[in-house]
Amino acid sequence: MAEKISLVALLVGRELSPLPEESWYGSLTRISRINELTARDVRHLFFKDGRDDAEPLDTMSLRSLLGWELKYGDPPALRKLASLKEILWSETLRYCPVCMEAGYHSVWHQFVALEVCLIHACPLRKRCMCCNTTLDEYRLTPQLIGHRFRCSGCGDDIAGVAFTIDAHAAFREQAVELFVRATRYREWLLSATRHLLFLAEAKRRRRRWPVRRFAPSDADVWRGTVNLIHRFPTGCASQHRHARLLAWQVRHYRPMMQSLEVAARSRLLSAGTVWNTYCALLRQLKTAIDSRREDDCPPSLDFSDGRCVLRGTWTPEQLAFVLLRCHCESLSVLRYELDRVEALQTARLTNALANNLLHSPACRAVFISGFAALVAAARQYIRSGVFDYRVACEIPTDALSLVVAETNDIQCGVAIVADPGGVTSDLLGLRCGVDLDTIAILNSLLLAARN
Ligand SMILES: [Zn+2]
Ligand SMILES: [Zn+2]
Repeated sequence: MAEKISLVALLVGRELSPLPEESWYGSLTRISRINELTARDVRHLFFKDGRDDAEPLDTMSLRSLLGWELKYGDPPALRKLASLKEILWSETLRYCPVCMEAGYHSVWHQFVALEVCLIHACPLRKRCMCCNTTLDEYRLTPQLIGHRFRCSGCGDDIAGVAFTIDAHAAFREQAVELFVRATRYREWLLSATRHLLFLAEAKRRRRRWPVRRFAPSDADVWRGTVNLIHRFPTGCASQHRHARLLAWQVRHYRPMMQSLEVAARSRLLSAGTVWNTYCALLRQLKTAIDSRREDDCPPSLDFSDGRCVLRGTWTPEQLAFVLLRCHCESLSVLRYELDRVEALQTARLTNALANNLLHSPACRAVFISGFAALVAAARQYIRSGVFDYRVACEIPTDALSLVVAETNDIQCGVAIVADPGGVTSDLLGLRCGVDLDTIAILNSLLLAARN
């Protein structure tokens, strides 16, 4: 500490305290640039000795060296949305070139939905202006601050222009404006907790499941769902509207069940009920698909050696229908038709239903969202004309999420799918609540149960 204090006299720029809505990355990198501090200096001066990823800065040192009071972290309410963090905030550094010339970086530059600077309306950039490489991971580290607004790849100024004190001095004059312009974003974020709590719970649970694949598109689907429930503020690009969200009824229910075997013994939902729900949905799906198109000769699949070749003209919905049957039933379904439904594949269904409530609406939602995910995959198979049967029999999980939150006797659920097209949308609208009122109820129940 004594050593740190001896550096006070050398450190300039203390009067350039953090501006409204400024990130800690911005304020500290400005100091580091003015003083040409290395990553080592930065670690020594501003960071705690121990590793603490949540609160890495040395608040005492900042107060004595710079006279700045550091307040850590988000309001408690926002912590409840922690699982949506990667959806809402960029993991790599983003910047506005004009702001960066003035040595300013706003917390909102990291807000993914926002694509232009609040002050200058310039498109926010994710790459170095000089060498075009993607910028570093956005984490408060000595390395990032020690780069002093320069690119870790080419060493030039990220924004293509050098930071100047003059530009910064002029920029400070609009401090009030910085605060005012961010108002609607602050308000959005504050009310986000109320609207998105249930979605955050869904995301949190999603992370715990064994996920076979996790594609980048998954983040888009989640972001689209956020936008669907709690529309991003004006000024944000309209975000990926292709997501569909389906929430099912809140029911009272007893302790959680792990598998169908348990379910079979339960009064709530027997294996027979699962089967009935499944058959009813198949009939409904078939009717919906056929009402759009009538085939004299149903299309079929030629199956050999694990490969499937498409015969006849398939629509994605027809193929998804067959694949859903292949997934759930203990037989290979090779034609688009509905005759006899065989026994359900218990192991696969157990997997699908684990962590989900086993009421009929939930069970139905599991099947619908599985079908929806398969429609998206089927489009791909139809395009190529041939596909791997074993892969196709698995329900893709990259854009699909099934969740329930159970708290004592309260249960609610949500399924999130990428926009699967006509038939699924019709089905989603039929019996499952997709309206914002339902979401509000789910949120308030969850909140009440937690408090
Ligand atoms: Zn700007
Ligand atoms: Zn570069």
